[in-house]
Amino acid sequence: MTSIKKSEILFENISSLKGVGKKLSKYFKNKKIEKINDILWDLPYAYTDRSNLVTLNKLEIGKILTMKIKVIKYNFPRIRNLPNRIACEDSTGKIDLVYFNSREGYLKKILPLNSEVVVSGKINYFRNKYQITNPDYVTDIQKINYVKTVIPKYSLTEGLTEKLYRKIIDQVLNNLPSPDEWYSAEVLKKFNFTSWTKSIYEIHKSSKNRDINSLYYRRLALDEILSHLIILSNNRRKIKKIKKTSKKFTQKISFSIIKNLKFTLTNNQKEIINEINIDLRSNSKMFRILQGDVGSGKTIIAIITAANVIENKAQCAFMAPTDILAKQHFELCKKIFINTNIKIEYLSGKTENKKRKEIIEKLKKKEIDFLIGTHSLFQKKIEFNKLGYIIIDEQHKFGVKQRMELSKKGGHNCDVLLMSATPIPRTMMLSIYGDMDISRLTEKPRNRKKIITLSKPENKLNEIIKFVERQLKEKNQIFWVCPLIEDSKFLDYTSATSRFKQIKEKFGKKVALLHGSIDKEEKNIILNKFLKREIDILISTTVIEVGIDFPNANLIIIENANKFGLAQLHQLRGRVGRGKKQGICILVFKGNLNKNAIKRIKILKSTNDGFLISEEDMNLRGFGDIVGYQQSGIKYFKIADPVVHGDLFKFAEKYIKEIENKKYNPDKYNFLLKLFDKAEIINLET
Ligand code: ADP
Ligand code: MG
Repeated sequence: MTSIKKSEILFENISSLKGVGKKLSKYFKNKKIEKINDILWDLPYAYTDRSNLVTLNKLEIGKILTMKIKVIKYNFPRIRNLPNRIACEDSTGKIDLVYFNSREGYLKKILPLNSEVVVSGKINYFRNKYQITNPDYVTDIQKINYVKTVIPKYSLTEGLTEKLYRKIIDQVLNNLPSPDEWYSAEVLKKFNFTSWTKSIYEIHKSSKNRDINSLYYRRLALDEILSHLIILSNNRRKIKKIKKTSKKFTQKISFSIIKNLKFTLTNNQKEIINEINIDLRSNSKMFRILQGDVGSGKTIIAIITAANVIENKAQCAFMAPTDILAKQHFELCKKIFINTNIKIEYLSGKTENKKRKEIIEKLKKKEIDFLIGTHSLFQKKIEFNKLGYIIIDEQHKFGVKQRMELSKKGGHNCDVLLMSATPIPRTMMLSIYGDMDISRLTEKPRNRKKIITLSKPENKLNEIIKFVERQLKEKNQIFWVCPLIEDSKFLDYTSATSRFKQIKEKFGKKVALLHGSIDKEEKNIILNKFLKREIDILISTTVIEVGIDFPNANLIIIENANKFGLAQLHQLRGRVGRGKKQGICILVFKGNLNKNAIKRIKILKSTNDGFLISEEDMNLRGFGDIVGYQQSGIKYFKIADPVVHGDLFKFAEKYIKEIENKKYNPDKYNFLLKLFDKAEIINLET
């Protein structure tokens, strides 16, 4: 058998293993193990050390120990519910083996009288005597080495016992293929890595090697990071190859828009507009992400560049995640394009049928230049005449695969711009968005005031309420965020519902409640009321939306603030201070703060830079807590950890460039990609 063929075994169904039938397959499926490969990534969560052989005068209660003992006497009671006992001894002492629900015949077979056996299990003490209840292992002396060892512990589900699981995983580990190495000798040497085969074997077999920082673990982590970057790089290359007709424009419209703005663009905004214009004019399709903190001014970049595409006589689609946000963009565009003959329309799931039909007709006839709306823009029935530019605002729900599908929308001549305010640490940028060109908007508009961030213990609620009173007198609006919808028996957090009751009693009918269980229609009504200032205080969970401008809201109170990640707190406080007045954020805490919590507040108070905050957040809480992580497509990491393996991520980013320069040979990485379930993505069409 060639090595390629043998390695394919790993990608067969688990039922092709010896001893795994239909029933076991089902149990494995409960553990999300379907292919043989899957079992390899289900790493032991601990190890049981059965390697120490002890004599019976050295027993320790509560420990798992292994011993060589002689079977002396059976004690099989005739009374139901009493266990069977088997007295054993060695030259130094005595011990009972206790069995519940085991048949005598079976016990006599595995523990013949006067024979010597190896037994392993947890030591108990009962009525002045050592005993082991239902020993984990009982075998004859010949098999002592099978028991006397360090045994990995896997999380088991119903139907899978340690022994059964061990038999199966050993079958896989003892028959591992030896794929051709995908790293150069230098890389192996640089990190002190050994082969894939040895690495995967070792991390299963000992707790030292199972450590997230062991050489074996690190090799597999780099494998995973690399496989991820190969996919991104491959997607990027495929999209770059797509030829399109260059867009031609003089920037006549966009210049006049810029001239009429009430502010001047920041240099950073100008740079990015330039970058995008170059892409629009080029012969290859644009697939770009614009990353910029909340309030950094991404929308105007989208609109100005859209104006150029419209000047080129192509249509634009601008999609936002919610009705309200889309509507706000629509109103803004109407204002901005007021003195032009550019035709703008709004389409959402709620658009009436008649209007919808009219829009569909007009789009086909190219009587609409700029369509703004929600997801409904991309329904099948919506056909553009000549779509040249798709802009997607606040994208945080797209993984790698969905982005690839998105790039196809609109055809070859359509450029794509995604915009996101999810702050991602600079070090993770390429690992998350390596399939796209990246623009980073780091400069905030000059007139933007830093949000003042304060912290208060919850027992000073009276002071907070006084402060709220003053804000209301000055006709300011207030967000009040609580972590829970309703009070919980298990969590000592303030709930929005109970806080709402309390605040409403005090401030009356200009207080409203908003949370995830309120239906969409009702939610929109409440947000619109807040926007129109019919509501002064909005008590809510974290559902208040990214991206909407509430220019008159300038105080946000966040309760149980230590429950939230820094990046999330930063996004929340970004809801205020969007108008002319100073924004204020009050973080409310329960009880005493520990050192870590104090550090976190300090960071928030000291900077307004979302990127920096997300980096600190990653270091303090780990990558998993970063906002947007779940949606970034990176959640699929089985073993690599961006916090622990930061150096490997950095290295992989350089290495992928090398691979790209060397003319990528896809076959070389086939096995690697399959290991991490990426083979399917690489074949996606553009
Ligand atoms: P985000 O990047 O979060 O989408 P927006 O595009 O909504 O931010 O911009 C936030 C606010 O800042 C808007 O009211 C916008 O008009 C304003 N703005 C954008 N660019 C500038 C600038 N260069 N100078 C001053 N204000 C600006
Ligand atoms: Mg925005």
